[in-house]
Amino acid sequence: MRTRTLDGMAERMQAWVVDTPGPVDGGPLARVERDVPEPAPGQVRVRVRACGVCRTDLHLAEGDLSPRRARVTPGHEIVGEVDRVGDGAHRWRPGDRIGVPWLAHTCGVCRFCTSGRENLCLDPRFTGWDVDGGYAAYAVVDEAYAYALPETFDDEAAAPLLCAGIIGYRALGRANLPAGGRLGIYGFGGSAHLTAQIALARGARVHVMTRSPAARELALELGAASVAEADAAPPEPLDAAILFAPVGSLVRPALAALDRGGTLAIAGIYLSEIPPLDYETHLFEERTLRSVTANTRRDGEAFLAEAARIGLRVATTPYPFDRADAALRDLAHGEVNGAAVLVA
Ligand SMILES: [Zn+2]
Ligand SMILES: [Zn+2]
Repeated sequence: MRTRTLDGMAERMQAWVVDTPGPVDGGPLARVERDVPEPAPGQVRVRVRACGVCRTDLHLAEGDLSPRRARVTPGHEIVGEVDRVGDGAHRWRPGDRIGVPWLAHTCGVCRFCTSGRENLCLDPRFTGWDVDGGYAAYAVVDEAYAYALPETFDDEAAAPLLCAGIIGYRALGRANLPAGGRLGIYGFGGSAHLTAQIALARGARVHVMTRSPAARELALELGAASVAEADAAPPEPLDAAILFAPVGSLVRPALAALDRGGTLAIAGIYLSEIPPLDYETHLFEERTLRSVTANTRRDGEAFLAEAARIGLRVATTPYPFDRADAALRDLAHGEVNGAAVLVA
């Protein structure tokens, strides 16, 4: 059954779409009116209450990541209230508050899906890239990919957990930080400030390198042992490091800051070009360079549970839905402290 008004027309809603990918100051997003989507079998529909603005949205809007679908609605950190349930969907009920994340679908049969590595699925779909996301009044989701959200987080605080939080959590795992170890964090935005708190709660000593004075202040407030400029050397060798800034030229200083045997994980889906590495300075003595690709649903569940347990503090800057374009511009110019969140 479609959602129809009394005169039989499908209900309409406001949504943002990536119209012409290009520089964010040129206005790549457009506001349009669309039919309210219907949940397919196995899906539920949510009324969007908040949607985080992730750097990936910016990379899509600017064309750093090639579009997988024309005029897609971005947004993959959706907090919504279930308002309609598709055929055969039974996990959620109308009125439930759920989170809709980046990972929208995996094939379930490839060699990665069947070996606990669905983040590497050969035929995945992503929210706000392959399927319409949360810069809209309504969104639909395959029920198996949505999350229950801990009640300790209100809508605005819960939104950034769904990508910034989960991906940072996976990056921390990929960085192989030993218990009580020394962690370097390069770039300190929405994802990094959450990941730092997880590491600190596990007893790590955290050093933060970032260009933003406001972010350095936030890092100290959260318990960082030191803060410095984006490419500065930390005051001690690092067991592990995570590069959150999408800046390839930071790979060299981050690798050079590692102690013998240390690991650098690159958290982002996009990175500008990495300058040539010097084997002896950057890799020898068993330094390891790794990437992070999406996440499994198990990562998401584990992160949300740990976030609630340690009382994660989420720094957010709210924007009304009709200012999504401004939120992206501010993110591009490094003017958002913590995470930008569109609120309904
Ligand atoms: Zn698969
Ligand atoms: Zn994201």
